[in-house]
Amino acid sequence: MKSPKSSIPAVDLIRCPNCGHAIDQVGMRKNCAKCGRRLTILCIACKTENPPVFQLCINCNQDYRLYAVEHYSKRIAKLELELADQDATVIAKEQADLYTQISQIAIMVFALIVGGFCLFYFRATIYSFFAVLLPLTAFLVNRYLVEKIALVAVGLPITFAKEWPYILKEIDRQTEEHIDARKELEYYSNELNKFRKKAERS
Ligand SMILES: [Zn+2]
Ligand SMILES: [Zn+2]
Repeated sequence: MKSPKSSIPAVDLIRCPNCGHAIDQVGMRKNCAKCGRRLTILCIACKTENPPVFQLCINCNQDYRLYAVEHYSKRIAKLELELADQDATVIAKEQADLYTQISQIAIMVFALIVGGFCLFYFRATIYSFFAVLLPLTAFLVNRYLVEKIALVAVGLPITFAKEWPYILKEIDRQTEEHIDARKELEYYSNELNKFRKKAERS
């Protein structure tokens, strides 16, 4: 029986570089059967698993290590810009929350003091209804207006409260993608360096 190994131009592929286990079906097997280490390198351009002896992808002819390094570097730079943008939004939102809290307390205190004054001063006259009307108005203003005004004051859209949960989710997603992209970049940079060093030696 003829082994497909004979067509692969490297000796080090026949054994796992990690544990030395002899590998059958070279190029077909993605992981070492003994230690589980990854044996092939994925070309992210065409999703083909490549035996690491080749510089160019066996399917699409890309320099697949370099391609992945460039791809993930660009992706990371873009994500970092987006996350910096989100940072500015988070800071603005925190500021709006603070303004909202302070204003709500101030409005309520004002309404209660003036209302109390009305109650005392206009006792049993028609004006004593201010005593009830003022805190009620303050409550409604606090409930429906203050946050919107605070958002506009810090330069956020008036509908921002609705968008906020989606923005938080988006920040989580971008943060996770950033972590993953950094791992991938490290992996492909490593593989690229290893390959270049090996190419220099031979
Ligand atoms: Zn192994
Ligand atoms: Zn490819």
